[in-house]
Amino acid sequence: MANNKIPNRILLAEDQLPRYWYNLRADMPEQPDPMLNPGTGQPLQTQELYPVFCEELCRQEMDSQTRYVEIPEEIVEYYKTYRPSPVHRAYRLEELLDTPAQIYYKFEGNNTSGSHKLNSAIAQAYYAKKEGLRGLTTETGAGQWGTALAMACAYFQLPLTVYMVKGSFTQKPYRRSIIQTFGAKVVASPSDTTNAGRAILEKNPDTTGSLGCAISEAIEKAVTTEGYRYVLGSVLNQVLLHQSVIGLEAKAALEQYDIYPDIIVGCAGGGSNLGGLIAPFMQDKLTGKANPRIVAVEPASCPSLTRGKYTYDFCDLANVTPLAKMYTLGSAFIPGANHAGGLRYHGMSPILSKLYHDGYMEAVSYEQTNVFKAAELFSRAEGILPAPESSHAIRGAIDEAVKCKESGEAKVILFGLTGTGYFDMSAYEQYLSGTMSDTIPSDEELAAFVPKLG
Ligand SMILES: *Cc1c(COP(=O)(O)O)cnc(C)c1O
Repeated sequence: MANNKIPNRILLAEDQLPRYWYNLRADMPEQPDPMLNPGTGQPLQTQELYPVFCEELCRQEMDSQTRYVEIPEEIVEYYKTYRPSPVHRAYRLEELLDTPAQIYYKFEGNNTSGSHKLNSAIAQAYYAKKEGLRGLTTETGAGQWGTALAMACAYFQLPLTVYMVKGSFTQKPYRRSIIQTFGAKVVASPSDTTNAGRAILEKNPDTTGSLGCAISEAIEKAVTTEGYRYVLGSVLNQVLLHQSVIGLEAKAALEQYDIYPDIIVGCAGGGSNLGGLIAPFMQDKLTGKANPRIVAVEPASCPSLTRGKYTYDFCDLANVTPLAKMYTLGSAFIPGANHAGGLRYHGMSPILSKLYHDGYMEAVSYEQTNVFKAAELFSRAEGILPAPESSHAIRGAIDEAVKCKESGEAKVILFGLTGTGYFDMSAYEQYLSGTMSDTIPSDEELAAFVPKLG
């Protein structure tokens, strides 16, 4: 019926913005294994995190009980400047694929930072400011997190130092300029400003850096600077909590039209957008209300879920962080050339790792040329230039829609379109000129980095 047609964009009103984040751990039948103090091997106590993170965020990190966490009014007000974000119906993509499937995507690229990362950056900057901190440090790989946090710190007037992976620092000068425009200081990592950085430079002066290395530097700077704390844009439980706003909005928008997804697809780097998107749907799954398939998509060059090991590992290269039980390739693993900078982390959110391990989720990996093929098709169909990270989810969703064509099933597919790719045009250029290559680590290469901590 034409007048019942689902709109191209399903929009929620400002006053429908969620007032609570949802804590997935409260409904998990088994909890993720606790973080361990690497010195003692004992489960970490909340106060042991206080030197690193601000106190409210430490509490959120460790709180597996509180199901709904009220979003402070100041954060809601900031969210209102770019949220609720739309759920798009991909009519044109469905037509081009000639699929009976309905494809929806939740678009998080509608803010200046260009990705979902702002959802957690605002929360983390807010709590730091409220606690009276004098500044924050963080790392950034591709630059999206650094940009998002710089925006949030500008809003709350909080100094910020960003350790930017050297490869990105040189390859993405405009990302760097945006971060600086918002008032943050950017340091190429490894740098000579920390012991961790100097040690790595001594061993390998020409290194282009890694996320794990930049994390080590940012933590060291935070714990050695009075009134400073460190913040991280993914992997942590608190980040998944903040990102649940994505899934809560998506579910509310679809419910307005009595739509419930059969398949939910998201890209997985550290797991925050996927954890956020699936949160209320996973709640239904865990409590027996519904049974959607949930698919994590990762790059073949950094396949933590599909080829990593479920074990305790460090979250950084210099091994200064607590140990987390997660799917990991090893904290010293540095992925080969891949343009999805946000998907180059060696580990995976402990919450998602546990859910995957217990069979509540699936995972697939794709080579980057195949991912860019999906990005090209999507951009032409939908008129949005996707980030390389997001394009992994597009690839996964398209493949599910193609399976529907083969089986004749009209499934409902929802995927997370996490951001836009305007700063990734050199990657697009490589793809378009046919010079992009794929790297897939061999079993031997992966075995060399597997953590032996048990
Ligand atoms: C950082 C980033 C990701 C991956 O991070 P997650 O924590 O796994 O969500 C995906 N897409 C974009 C656009 C990003 O910036």
